[in-house]
Amino acid sequence: PPSASGPFTVVLLGDDGVGKTALASIFAGAADSMQCDCEQYGGETVEQHMVVDGESATVTLLDMWDSQNGDSCPQSGDAFIIVYSITDRASFQKASELRVQLRQEREPNQTPIILVGNKCDLVRRREVSVNEGRTCAMVFDCKFIETSAAMQHNVWPLFEGIVRQLRLRRDSA
Ligand code: GDP
Repeated sequence: PPSASGPFTVVLLGDDGVGKTALASIFAGAADSMQCDCEQYGGETVEQHMVVDGESATVTLLDMWDSQNGDSCPQSGDAFIIVYSITDRASFQKASELRVQLRQEREPNQTPIILVGNKCDLVRRREVSVNEGRTCAMVFDCKFIETSAAMQHNVWPLFEGIVRQLRLRRDSA
């Protein structure tokens, strides 16, 4: 049914430099996201057809530039990905602020939100532990995953997880 296949609009939020563009370019199918011309994707829209659990879904990913957006969160997303870098505690704090802001601006429990700790390949520069990320997600009532855009680790499970959450919401609506 069309209600379960989208198109879903998913918005990427997070501090500068946490890896939003890198995640978006993997989503866009870039062969080597770390070498792509990142301007190409920054602040833009990528549409992708995915097959999740044997069902197709269309996802439109919006890569927001936080610094250029001032402090306002977009109202238009079906789901939000809040990204921080595990190597940057300030970006983790920013993620919490964004979560609070989303909660204030949107009906609680209606919009799937995933907290993403990116750059998990940089183990020696880690400033935010897995447990802190997980705990923060529990407090804020959202899902949590650590990814590495550089290693392409957990990036597709992230997007697949969002599609599953969106279907659950639609199916129970
Ligand atoms: P944005 O400002 O959130 O869009 O961040 P970018 O995607 O432009 O990434 C900022 C910098 O971090 C770039 O130099 C990327 O190559 C690098 N980067 C992004 N993701 C990862 C990752 O998972 N691991 C590592 N080691 N570097 C990453």
